Amino acid sequence: MSHVFGRHTKGQLPVAVRGDGVYIYDSNGKAYLDGSGGAAVSCLGHNDSDVIAAIHAQLRELEFAHTGFLTSQPAESLADALIAHAPEEIDRVYLVSGGSEAVEAALKLARQYMLEIGQPQRTRFIARRQSYHGNTLGALGTGGNMWRREPFDPVMVSASHIAPCYEYRGRTEGESREAYGQRVADELEAELLRVGPETVIAFLAEPVVGATAGAVPAVPGYFRRVREICDKYGVLLILDEVMCGMGRTGTFFACEQDGVRPDIVTIAKGLGAGYQPIGAMLCSAEIYAAIEAGSGFFQHGHTYLGHPVACAAALAVVTKLTEGGLTGRSAEMGQYLAEALEAEFGQHPNVGDIRGKGMFRGLEFVAERESKAPFDPGRRVAARLKAAAMENGLICYPMNGTIDGQQGDHVLLAPPFVSTRDQIDELVGKLSASLAAVLAG
Ligand code: PLP
Repeated sequence: MSHVFGRHTKGQLPVAVRGDGVYIYDSNGKAYLDGSGGAAVSCLGHNDSDVIAAIHAQLRELEFAHTGFLTSQPAESLADALIAHAPEEIDRVYLVSGGSEAVEAALKLARQYMLEIGQPQRTRFIARRQSYHGNTLGALGTGGNMWRREPFDPVMVSASHIAPCYEYRGRTEGESREAYGQRVADELEAELLRVGPETVIAFLAEPVVGATAGAVPAVPGYFRRVREICDKYGVLLILDEVMCGMGRTGTFFACEQDGVRPDIVTIAKGLGAGYQPIGAMLCSAEIYAAIEAGSGFFQHGHTYLGHPVACAAALAVVTKLTEGGLTGRSAEMGQYLAEALEAEFGQHPNVGDIRGKGMFRGLEFVAERESKAPFDPGRRVAARLKAAAMENGLICYPMNGTIDGQQGDHVLLAPPFVSTRDQIDELVGKLSASLAAVLAG
């Protein structure tokens, strides 16, 4: 009997014992192709010798130094490497241990910034429906995943939510992509005017929506309009790249492709590539300067900020993603993945949409393509697809509630960037067989 408090109390999970490249092996020797990098984490695959060597080397030098007393070379070098590739005006890196911590730090920094610049009346956040920003109370409070929020609603930081930029379901017939993008971005202005723009701290969004909606990118021009609105009302723009950042979409930061400049951006997952738990909140020089000129310290902190071993691992990962060319490989293999998905599912009667960027792709399932009607939630398409895929030796990331938290099913694919064409073909083949088994049942 296990004493681990797992995610579910029912059923027993296989025991993972070993990883190698795109495969994970369980204690029975069964191989699973890691088609979603867990949850968009394992961008380098498993057992990467460079990252492991960097961790060993750092452990031999220094395992830990508390950031209340000392900084460390791995933290300094990692921050330099991130800033060298960060969006314009982003200048400082706050190193934490995961995605939710990065988002919490972003929310608190945004609030403190408003205090430092003499705008204490700014107390609200605006985010989008069908977003996910993490599971801690602040991050969950801003997130727009309704079923995740509901039980905790009475005890959370509250935010208001506008529509996502979700072209497949939101763009009306005859409306151009650009016009659709402006229309949904303008919901931000309407919401600001409704609640009083002088009361809002920040707008928070994922450049490509991950877990909740299944790799949904914005249409061209959407984020530029969002930026204009934020600037008009003195509201900060926080981009959450915890899932879509670090090369996942084919550029190091996803927002590069939207031509938009965030004030704060959060990263995690691919930053440590699974070798260490690490995340980061990056902010503009202007925000840092306000803290420096004001109270002189960010009223936040955790014991494991800037953990030297985690930073050494992340520096090795970032070096491989940038100088090592793996972000470029994500773009290239992502194109191959898109084509393979199109060839296999492009005409499938139950696949309504194939979307995403780079090695970050989603398929939305429908009962009928023409009307885009979703499956009855009682059919549990996503849950059954996850089980069927595991049975077939494939780890992928299906989820239900795609449309509104209740209706709709999708699968998210986020394979390691090191995947070969054969391995991508294997992924698509196993996904197809798993889907066929679910639909036949
Ligand atoms: N933000 C986004 C966009 C995410 O996808 C996630 C996790 O899936 C988080 C934040 C939370 O990250 P973590 O699970 O590392 O706390």
